[in-house]
Parts: sequence; C-alpha cells; structure tokens
Amino acid sequence: MIGGGVRGTAQEEDARMFRELYTSALTEGKSYDWLNYLSNQIGGRLSGSVQAEQAVTYTKKEMEALGLDRVWLQPVMVPKWVRGTPEFAYIESEPGVTNNVPVCALGGSVATPAGGLKASVIEVQGVEDLPKLGRSEIEGKIVFYNRPMDPTLINTFEAYSGCVDQRYSGAAEAAKYGAVGVVVRSMNLSLDDHPHTGSMSYGELTLSERIPAAAISTKGADLLSTTLKLNPQIQFFLRQNCRQLPDAQSYNVIGEIRGSAFPEEVIVIGGHLDSWDLGDGSHDDGAGCVQSMEVLHLLKKVGYRPKRTIRVVLFMNEENGLRGGLKYAEVAKEKKEKHLFALESDAGGFTPRGFSFDCSLEDYNRILSWKKLFEPYLIHEFTRGGSGADIGPLKDQGLVLSGLRPDSQRYFEHHHAETDTFDAVNKRELELGAAAMTSLVYLVDRYGFTSPTGLQGQQ
Ligand SMILES: [Zn+2]
Repeated sequence: MIGGGVRGTAQEEDARMFRELYTSALTEGKSYDWLNYLSNQIGGRLSGSVQAEQAVTYTKKEMEALGLDRVWLQPVMVPKWVRGTPEFAYIESEPGVTNNVPVCALGGSVATPAGGLKASVIEVQGVEDLPKLGRSEIEGKIVFYNRPMDPTLINTFEAYSGCVDQRYSGAAEAAKYGAVGVVVRSMNLSLDDHPHTGSMSYGELTLSERIPAAAISTKGADLLSTTLKLNPQIQFFLRQNCRQLPDAQSYNVIGEIRGSAFPEEVIVIGGHLDSWDLGDGSHDDGAGCVQSMEVLHLLKKVGYRPKRTIRVVLFMNEENGLRGGLKYAEVAKEKKEKHLFALESDAGGFTPRGFSFDCSLEDYNRILSWKKLFEPYLIHEFTRGGSGADIGPLKDQGLVLSGLRPDSQRYFEHHHAETDTFDAVNKRELELGAAAMTSLVYLVDRYGFTSPTGLQGQQ
C-alpha cells in the first residue's frame, strides 16, 4: 500500500467499515419501522402509563429478535403523574368577555380547584423579578413567566437552558410570595398554538403550599402579554385536574453483544423510552431509542464482532424523575461493572452534525484524531460539553460520556408538545444519526481509551 504502514491500513479499514455501516443503515435499517410502531401503535409513554409498559414489552421483543447475547429488564420504580382531562384557560378582559388560550399542565403540577382558578395576573421575565416586586404585588395573583427563548443563539439548547428555570422552579418561587398559580411561556422558538409541557419541582414546599403550574402556547403568551399592557386588571382562568399517584413498577430495557476480547469493558448506548404524553414522543426520545437499538442491529448486519461488550439501555423515566438512569448507574456500581464509554441520543431525530464529549483532554484528543473519518458523512461538530441526562449518573466511573448532536433548529417546535409526532421525523435523517452513532461506537470498541486502569485498546 502506497504510504501505508500499519496506521494507514487501519484507517483504510475504518473508512471501509464506516461505508458499510452507512450503507446498511440507509438500505436495511430498522430504526424507522421501530419508531413507527412506538409512535403510532403505542403513542406517548409517560412513566407509569400503560403505553410505557407496552413500549417496554415491544422493545424487549424487538431486541430479542436481533439475536443479541442477552436481553433483560432492569426493574425500577417510577413516579406516576397523570394529566387528567384536558386543561382549559381563558383571558377575561372584562366580565363576560373572554378569549380561550391553549395551555397544558406542567408535569408534576397539582390541580386547580375543581371549578378552576380565576385571578389577576402579573407578568415577569423570570424568577429574579419576584423579590423586586415583593409579596404586595404578587399575593393572590397568577404569576406569568414570559421570558422567551433567545432567538440569537445558534444552538437552541442554549436558548432552552436560558429559559427553563421559569418552568422548573417558577411555581416553587412564586408560591413563596403568595401567588395562587403560575403560567409559563412555552419553551418554543416558534409562534404557534401548542403548549409545551415539561418537568417542574416544588422544591421544599409542602403539599398544601403547592400552586398549579401550566404552560401557555407562545401565541397565547403574546396575547396575554398584550392584553395585560392594555389593561392590567384582566383576569385569567385556569382549570386542570392532573395528579400524582403512587410510584409504579417499570423497567429499563437492556440488550447487549458480549465483547470477544474484553467482555468486562462495557460501552453503553442509549436513549429514554418514556416521553411526555401530549405527542407520541417521536423525537423525544423515541428517535434516540431506535437509533441505539440500530447500533447493535447494524454491527450484526455488517458482521462486526465487537471486542468489548456493547450494551443498549432504553432508560425509563428521564422526563420526570431520571429514575432509570439513576438505577442503571446504581446497579452498575453494585456489580462493579467497568464502563468505558456511554453515548446518548436525546436531542431529536434530526440530521446529525456531530457529538459532544464529556471527558479528559487526552481522551478528547484521541477522539479528534478520528474526526477525518466522519467528514464524508458531514459529521463535523466535535465539542467538549454535556452528554445526556440518563448517562450522567455514570460519570463518577471516570468514563467518556458523549451525546449525539443533531441539527437543533426545529427541535423546540416539537419538544414536549403535541407536535412531537412521527411525521416530524425524517427517515433518512434518523438513519444517518444511527449510522454516525454506530461508527463512533465501532471506533471506541476498536481503539478504546486511555482509561485510568491502564486498559488500552489494541489496534
Ligand atoms: Zn428527552
């Protein structure tokens, strides 16, 4: 081989493997069919729901059909919150003159009184505004958090991070000042009529101190804000009857191919099987689940025998508790399993752009040396940063954590809303994501990392 040598040969072999994996993903992948079933035959998979249970049974069966070395369920108790009947809200600009606005309860919220809640509204741009206003301005009112996502940020996850405190802790903070409820502008960069739910926390508040929390669509939020400017005396009506039930039994779904040379070294790939209930959870995170399953399918299809154990984990309850991720890490620790690498796909099923890595500089440099292999597939964004919520609890094992980074521009039009549906996922984009993940997993399996125990990959 011209200019070859061992290194060149290995790189050529890697490039050939990439080509095979991509070809297989784009011509005989199963991810789209799996997602179709999860989305259209099962639907939204809120923790503790019948649908979540069906998703466990279905994905276990499908992984068994792949002929893996082992497929099992890992029991985990999960919170069970139910939405109840559809929420209802309107703006009353003067007695008898009302405009309905689209709202949904935030996950974990308490209900309003059965007949609903009507109060005047105070608009704020964030929890920081509350102490400035003080109890005298807030008591007895509904606090309306209206700070929008920053449209100038190219990475929309950053824009999300810059707002989501309003949703997560808005109710707990407002309750301290005597608010009777909160309404939060949906975390969405588009103006539309779909409210976006998501998790929230009451912090230390006792049951009797908790106040109802709802999201309002972005157009609803704009209408409410405009109406308030014209007349600060308007009233807002909200009715929701969601509630928290006792914890329910559920499962992480796990499947693996055992390593041929270093079976004790585990590479984890995953997404979360639960979702919110408004849509069918196709992007968040049905896509990540089927892409993760596809990694094992593709490796089998091209006849690659991994040296290390490659394990898919479909985590339960990422959205409103993270119990699955915590349980997985707890059991891994108990069993003294050695995890080398964990990769999560939980940023939507859009065109993959790259990966982010949470690791040492040394390991990151090794990863960067692989970057050229990805270039023909338009995977170019390699950054250091976060990975995924479900694999986060593994961090203290000192492994390399990574997250698939798809194009994020449209993600927040779907995230946690009724618009997160199967038709919003493009088959080819989904498959490209799975192929990129498999390619990365292949390289990690082949070359390993400079792990603290000194176990190094062989070339
Ligand atoms: Zn998610």
